[in-house]
Amino acid sequence: MLTAKQAHGRVRIAIENGLLVRPAQCEVCGVTIEQIERTHKDVWGYLASLAGEPYRPLSFPLIVAHHWKGYAHPLDVWWVCQSCNRRLHGRHDGTVTAPADARSIMYTLPPVDHK
Ligand SMILES: [Zn+2]
Repeated sequence: MLTAKQAHGRVRIAIENGLLVRPAQCEVCGVTIEQIERTHKDVWGYLASLAGEPYRPLSFPLIVAHHWKGYAHPLDVWWVCQSCNRRLHGRHDGTVTAPADARSIMYTLPPVDHK
């Protein structure tokens, strides 16, 4: 059984070798990297200007791999934004079987107990 770290390592290697391509849009909610960056700049750029500091753009991947079938299927991923990934976090058992399903039910899912 792969750990989350190992599964994400497989994704990274697959990207480096061209087997997977990180898209510019979330498969669940449809938000684009451009929209996320623009919103971040609007809010944090304004706050930085009030503080007299330079704006610092986001420096981590904005679209990440969600292992919807579990980490045993490391390359079977949906590409989701950080917000959708947080909502789907822990839903790796294949019960949510398509991005469209996730879109319709994810806001009604009970919180995951990570204990
Ligand atoms: Zn999303």
